[in-house]
Formats: sequence, C-alpha cells, structure tokens
Amino acid sequence: MTNRRTFLRNASLLTVGGLVAAGQTGRAALSGSPSVDAKKQLGLQIYSLGQELGKDVPGGLKKVAQMGYTVLELAGYNKEGKIGAVTMADFKKYADDAGLKIVSSHLNPPVREYNEGNLEQIKDFWKLAAEHHAGIGCKYIIQPGQPSTRSTEEVAFVGKVFNEAGKIAQAAGLQFGYHNHDGEFATVVPGGTEPLPRRRGFGRQPEGAKIIYDGMLEATDPSLVVFENDVYWTVMGQKDPVAYMKKYPDRIRLLHIKDVAVLGESGMMNFQKIYETAYANGIKDYFVELEGYAGGTQFEGVKGCADYLKQARFVK
Ligand code: MG
Repeated sequence: MTNRRTFLRNASLLTVGGLVAAGQTGRAALSGSPSVDAKKQLGLQIYSLGQELGKDVPGGLKKVAQMGYTVLELAGYNKEGKIGAVTMADFKKYADDAGLKIVSSHLNPPVREYNEGNLEQIKDFWKLAAEHHAGIGCKYIIQPGQPSTRSTEEVAFVGKVFNEAGKIAQAAGLQFGYHNHDGEFATVVPGGTEPLPRRRGFGRQPEGAKIIYDGMLEATDPSLVVFENDVYWTVMGQKDPVAYMKKYPDRIRLLHIKDVAVLGESGMMNFQKIYETAYANGIKDYFVELEGYAGGTQFEGVKGCADYLKQARFVK
C-alpha cells in the first residue's frame, strides 16, 4: 500500500529523474543535495601534517589539494615572520600553485600571563603579525594558546587584551579570533588562584563562579573577536559544542573539525549534528585537525579525514 511518505519519496525521486532526463545533470541541477562528487569546501589546519610538510612544502601542498582540501589554516608563524622555515610570500605562492586558499592562521603572542605591564608588548606582536598576514590575503588571525586564566579577574583582563588584538586585526583588514582546548571549560572564581576541581553531579557552585570560555565570550566585544570552536576539545572539556554553537551563533564563526584521530572513527563525535548546526548558523570556515597519528603517516591520516568528509552526506 502506498502511504503518504512513500508517495512523497517516490515523487522526489521522479523530480531528480526528470531533471536528469531533461539533460540538466551536474551540480547546478542538484545544488543543495549533498553529493559525493561535488567539490566541497574542505579546510585543513596544516599543523595536522606535523614535521612531514616541512620536508617538501610545495609537493606536500599539492598532495593536500589532491586529497580534496581547498582551503588552509596556517600554523607555525614565528618571530622571523615565517611559517616554519618558509617565508609567508613563498608559502602563499606554494598554496596558490597547489590551488589552495589560505584563509586563516594560528599564532600566539610571546607571553602567557597578561597584565598592564606587558599589554604594549602583546599589542606590538599583533601589529606586526597582522601586517604579515594581511600581506598574504589571509582573512583570520587566530590565537590557539590559552593565556593564564586562574580567576574571573584574569579572564576579564584576557578579554580586554583580545579586544585590543581585534582592533589591531581590523585595522589591517583582518579578523581576530580565539581557539579553545579543554582547559577553557574549567570553572574559576573571583580572586581564585587555580580553576576549581571538575564538578560532578549535583551541588551549588561558589558565588561568582564562571566557566572560562563563557567568561571569554562575555568579556569580548562581538564586533572585534570571533571564536573558532574546536569541537573535539569542547567535548574533552565535558561540554557540548552544538549547545555552544546554538547559544552563541554570532560569536562562534569558525570550527576545528577534530576527532580522537581520523574523523568519524571514534564514537565520541556527532559530526552530523555539528555540521547541521554550523550550516544553520551560516558558518563557512572550518578546518580539519589531526594530532599525532599512530595509524600511519600524518599525510595518510589527513587523507582519511578528507575521505570521511567527502563521503559524508551531511557535509555540503
Ligand atoms: Mg584545534
């Protein structure tokens, strides 16, 4: 018996068949429907390649493009203004030659403890870094390292420094952002000297207690600072990245797509929910990240991640 659901499914199949029959094959006719063939925008954080990339940057980037990646987030910016041993200009040329677009870069100021005494030093770092990155057409400069945040006061001051970095980035035509690990999901208190022990079950938090990540979101100006949520590290912090994306749709504007190792192999990460929420929020920039990979070379692991995203029907 044909029920309504079966009818609708058959009708939609007929529609696709009709388009194909009319000769409107290809991406335009099927735009919006996920396809394993369509070219997806796949981002890679180059840290994922570890030391292997440095052996042959031009050849390595070509391999990355062949895997299906289209955009890059850099790592390894140093005080010589290079990415590892390669000048920014050369890196951009190698990326261009491979057909890859550099969208973002990870870099940390030279100090971890922020105070009024070193604020100018931190600002000087961002000024030079912003100049270098604007020169290669990068869109984002992202801080991936957690500054000292032992109390709510330190979190508030870090927010102030991030706002300054945001102003410097904007003056250079860039956007400043912050990338988390799991440490930001610890809780701190006013006047604290270290995060509170991890909370279990019921029980009241002390007065004024705050999750560091929430404090960073509240202490930063939405017009100056965006957040690149590392979904794996958020889960490792015992929090739900989807809940954060839903709560802060205008603040979390980039993602790190990461699993224990190759994407989709563990049972820990609900990438379908993560991508659905990202698309609902209009997030366009995300980068695959892989840490030390025991199953093969870093290049092999990074290819496994690309293969997973290419075949995943929820990735557009
Ligand atoms: Mg990450």
